[in-house]
Amino acid sequence: MPKLKVFSLLLLMSPLLAEEGPSRPLASNTIVQFLDKQKESETDNLSLDEQIQNTKKKLSSLAKDNSAVLDEYEQMVAILVKAYKEEKSMKEEQVKHVLNALLYAAECHQSQTRKNMAHTPYIIHPMSVTQNLLSIGHVRDTDVIIASLLHDTIEDTQATYDDLKKRFGEKVEGLVREVTEDNKLAGQKKRKMQIVHALQTSKEASMIKLADKLYNLEALITEPPEKWTRERIDQYFEWSQVVIDNLPDANPDLKAAVHKVILDYWQKQS
Ligand code: ZN
Repeated sequence: MPKLKVFSLLLLMSPLLAEEGPSRPLASNTIVQFLDKQKESETDNLSLDEQIQNTKKKLSSLAKDNSAVLDEYEQMVAILVKAYKEEKSMKEEQVKHVLNALLYAAECHQSQTRKNMAHTPYIIHPMSVTQNLLSIGHVRDTDVIIASLLHDTIEDTQATYDDLKKRFGEKVEGLVREVTEDNKLAGQKKRKMQIVHALQTSKEASMIKLADKLYNLEALITEPPEKWTRERIDQYFEWSQVVIDNLPDANPDLKAAVHKVILDYWQKQS
């Protein structure tokens, strides 16, 4: 398969290629304790507006009042409320379920920060990826939205598949499984497996991967990690192109947005 050949070449030429995306935080000892039965039943009795305010308060405290996180929250809520009230593409219960998943993710990632200069709370990443899905991909499938919020919980926190299944159902658990990388693998083997997995990814999981790539590529341009050289960033862009080319066609708008970021990057270099 020509694409895989191109990728093998790329691997040989890329000793500095990222082991992992720029989004990886340090390992965390977060103890997942949120959303126990009692708290779940508390939110069941709230109106949607009350739950939105409640979630904001809790998120704000988990993210230490970070304004970027709160801005992202406002934008996400605006789309969810519009989906429920105007588009009628989501039910009230589904919006509430998404808010529960957001708080669960924020709790899981509580002690982690991004590798950018500002060390923004890590939750900004799954929130922004989800925002890409909602606003660029126009995705309204609750399971995909929830899986997107949870997409890094297995890799980077102490959350377990069992826990995700119990709280958010089998479909969400399955999607998170699809987008979770095997941390036991390293180097070339890990990168090769990502290509193999891309070829086998479901359409729903592909959307999450595209939204994730879009965020990571944009972040490399706007706030590159301190230690990354230009060469390493170039290689990340080259490798990302191969990964997205191998994903099934799932969401043309998201794919076009990723292509545009990559194209803009190379045009600026020339
Ligand atoms: Zn991610």
